Amino acid sequence: MTTEKTPLAPNFLRTIIAQDNQSGKYAGQVVTRFPPEPNGYLHYGHAKSIIINFGLAEENHGRCHLRFDDTNPLKEDVEFEDSIADSVRWLGYDWGKHRYHASDYFDDLYRFAEWFIEQGLAYVDSQSPEKMRAMRGTLTEPGVPSPDRNRPIKENLVFFHAMKSGMFADGQYVLRLKIDMASSNLNMRDPAIYRIRHATHHRTGDKWHVYPLYDYTHCISDALERVTHSICTLEFQDHRPLYDWIINKLADGGMLARPLPHQYEFARLNLTYVVLSKRRLIELVEKNHVDGWDDPRMPTLVGARRRGFTPAGFRLFAERIGVSKSDSWLDFSLLEAAMRDDLNENAERRIAILDPLKLIIDNYPEGQSEDCLAPNHPQKPDLGKRAVPLSRELWIEREDFMETPSKGYFRLAPGQEVRLRYAYIIRCTHVDKDDNGNIVAVHATYDPDTKSGTDGANLRKVKGNIHWLSTAYAKEAEIRLYDRLFAVPFPGAKNPVGHTEEIPIAVETAPPDDGDDNHRLVEPHARNYLDDLNPDSKRVITGYIEKALAEAVPETRFQFERHGYFVADIKDHRPERPVFNRTVTLKDSWVKY
Ligand code: ATP
Ligand code: MG
Repeated sequence: MTTEKTPLAPNFLRTIIAQDNQSGKYAGQVVTRFPPEPNGYLHYGHAKSIIINFGLAEENHGRCHLRFDDTNPLKEDVEFEDSIADSVRWLGYDWGKHRYHASDYFDDLYRFAEWFIEQGLAYVDSQSPEKMRAMRGTLTEPGVPSPDRNRPIKENLVFFHAMKSGMFADGQYVLRLKIDMASSNLNMRDPAIYRIRHATHHRTGDKWHVYPLYDYTHCISDALERVTHSICTLEFQDHRPLYDWIINKLADGGMLARPLPHQYEFARLNLTYVVLSKRRLIELVEKNHVDGWDDPRMPTLVGARRRGFTPAGFRLFAERIGVSKSDSWLDFSLLEAAMRDDLNENAERRIAILDPLKLIIDNYPEGQSEDCLAPNHPQKPDLGKRAVPLSRELWIEREDFMETPSKGYFRLAPGQEVRLRYAYIIRCTHVDKDDNGNIVAVHATYDPDTKSGTDGANLRKVKGNIHWLSTAYAKEAEIRLYDRLFAVPFPGAKNPVGHTEEIPIAVETAPPDDGDDNHRLVEPHARNYLDDLNPDSKRVITGYIEKALAEAVPETRFQFERHGYFVADIKDHRPERPVFNRTVTLKDSWVKY
């Protein structure tokens, strides 16, 4: 794989792990985890997180767990779990037997919550979510303690048990930790850890009427799995004191074993020309701006796969962009370049004519054909050559002919000579036109002494070299030309080409029991991002391909010479009806902002 040749550059996570290995903090063990919520498809950003977590484990002969963070029964689904697991496997990683669910720990989490109550460190609060939010204070003002804060331990236990047994309505009570309502860190102001939810969970069914919240669940799950390095995105930095508080209390109480996991935060991936927010990805699909989750233009991993992006390309990209502790935007061209570099090395070359024009070689005998040998990879002779049949009538690219050539145009024009790649030198003689004056065929004569690979073939030099396919041996194919989904780098931003707004920042933990993700991002976008969709992101054409390409196994990737990289569509490609998707062009033609 390409990445294996790239020496691993130091980054702060590698440094920390090396130090921990040296000090023996975890007895040389490295255990990480990737903790997706099974509420959607993975996107390019998740790929970064997967590669960091699984990659660090791999480099250190440790292990990485795949843990589904399934604490919100309202939004989760098994269908998503399967797709997530497939995408992680597709990226090249294996969690072995370490596939877990936060819901595996519901019994432990509940027991620990009772323990917190018994220690006087948790209480059942009857305030409404709105009230709790209002009482929480601000960055400059301390919070106001709830009237329930001093509820006796025994009563808290009774209430908590009643919450569990389903006696109360959703939102009627929450269980909160008793930490510090005046803490400068809002996350420490008696965070809610359990809420009432009368909902069927996709794994635990109707067993529970209370569900633990993210901050409480995550650190305990990490500790129970003996994770060493718990790596997450920057918006969780302010949650780290709570992470440490919870597991340290439980370890002090003998409920968890030391050494405890440590949380580290890195900058999430922000990429231009796409959107990486679940809410928006859902909107793109639901409003039919794309053809489903695996549309090759979607920044999902199922979309990337269908587009022909490669796991090795993602790894190369991740290694190149590194891991940093401050947010920034990266240009989409970096991802494309990584894909191009991997495909350049690994994709075999083939010929396709995307905008066909007929060429007739008048002095080539009718009914005759001969094989021309084309290398499968110019830098890898061991991949061999294949035969491409030449005959009297060929397809060439329309842009390879000009009736009145402009200065410096070295391809085909009346009286001008070019080499048919892997074949002969030809000279253009005349053209056929229809009644409207459109060119329908170009005529030429060939020089039989100039066949590529034969003695003397190179005695005569010509400046142009064009590709071609025999009309008799080419196969028609549907070619889907994909390009960037958005036409501008910062979709929806006030200034979409020269972004001036803040990078999306994380909001503080949402108030308890508001029923939604507790770490939603604020997206300060001024315009509707849908107005910035690229109208040319998909163009479907009919072209011609080498016949054998029709038999290509779906998902095989090729370079179509002079055109770019293409992949046999994973869903629609059939021998009788080949379909190829353009992964990326050979060169970046987008303007840099
Ligand atoms: P949600 O808003 O639904 O929580 P999410 O993007 O956080 O969405 P998760 O399934 O919780 O989705 O994410 C799993 C892991 O992927 C988390 O550890 C998260 O930090 C990481 N992750 C998500 N988005 C990015 C990104 N853009 N760059 C890097 N890592 C990301
Ligand atoms: Mg999340």
